[in-house]
Amino acid sequence: MLQEAKRIQQLPPYLFARIEQRIAQAKEDGVDVISLGIGDPDRPTPKHIIDKAAGQLYNSENHQYPSSVGMLSFRQAVAQYYKNRFNVELDAKSEVVTLIGSKEGIAHISWCYLDPGDISLVPDPGYPVYGTGSALAGAQPYIMPLKAENKFLPDLDAIPEDVAKKAKLMFLNYPNNPTGAIASLDFYKKVVDFAKKYDILVCHDSAYQDLSFDGYLAPSFLEVPGAKEIGIEFGSCSKPYNMTGWRIGWAAGNPQAINALGRLKSNLDSGQFQAIQYAGIAALTGPQDSVKEISKVYQERRDIVVNGLNSMGWKLEAPKSTIYVWAPVPKGYDSISFAEYVFEKSGVVVTPGNGYGEHGEGFFRISLCIEQERIQEALERIKQNIGKVEF
Ligand SMILES: *Cc1c(COP(=O)(O)O)cnc(C)c1O
Repeated sequence: MLQEAKRIQQLPPYLFARIEQRIAQAKEDGVDVISLGIGDPDRPTPKHIIDKAAGQLYNSENHQYPSSVGMLSFRQAVAQYYKNRFNVELDAKSEVVTLIGSKEGIAHISWCYLDPGDISLVPDPGYPVYGTGSALAGAQPYIMPLKAENKFLPDLDAIPEDVAKKAKLMFLNYPNNPTGAIASLDFYKKVVDFAKKYDILVCHDSAYQDLSFDGYLAPSFLEVPGAKEIGIEFGSCSKPYNMTGWRIGWAAGNPQAINALGRLKSNLDSGQFQAIQYAGIAALTGPQDSVKEISKVYQERRDIVVNGLNSMGWKLEAPKSTIYVWAPVPKGYDSISFAEYVFEKSGVVVTPGNGYGEHGEGFFRISLCIEQERIQEALERIKQNIGKVEF
């Protein structure tokens, strides 16, 4: 019999399988299912970006292998974006690498810094790739709980000294998926001090830094003096430009870590199709009106969800960024039983919070990636069928 490697066998089981089965069954039974589950922008990529890529499809220079670390012109576009947006200086050659979507780099950075037995510091709840990437490298993720009472920031003082000394990597993600929390430069300063003390590479996942509401603008981790000595930031065209399918992102910051990722990539993949990198250049250097527009769309959807839930007894603060609303489950439920209850009663899919780690238990996530009328209808159905809730 064929035997899978242990590293594949140890991958966590797919938590949402049971819910997905029920969704499929309900659809077969003719239920009009509204999914607030998936975090994947629903609107099309802005036209000027598509046009740029379409033209480059015909350029035969793009038909050969690209550079595995990416076109210099794409990396220069990232450096220019950092200069304009954050006043952060980056050397495009040594401090930026093109990624096949930021998830690719987030998964692979573990291979660059973690040996079997090493420790990585991983936020929980969080994007599952931080922990699975670490585990695939043979390392041990150490959970940093993100608690509501700490505004979903990790408590660095709670990390035991011996763990901090053994840790090689720390993953962070603000604005945060799934909690919608944001981080200040003051928090990032504390992270830089901590990482310098223990020689830890900070990997800040910044996928939502340009989707923000109510006038808020997220800072970059790299704005903190000294951040580049111990950290990199992962960025992506996926969310601000509705480009999840294109697979284009980057890592920027510490040149040693950028070089290590580039060396690994030259042995694993041969980089991203240049026509897609041209699309990324058009996104980052072209007009940014579409980013403002799409932020406004998410803000309106967010308000429907937050106001709808608050009218039923929740006491949510509207998140300042991301494409999610994170909310506690009412008294008498856990994450799974509440998601199932909402689905059975109203045909609306929400994501149980424990899918993002054990500290996500007791919460659920609503994604804002469908049109306003459908979100409105989802909230009305929930209100009609569930009514007032208690905590
Ligand atoms: C969507 C998302 C990303 C982006 O991934 P890509 O591979 O760039 O599409 C990264 N991190 C988090 C937390 C996300 O939610």
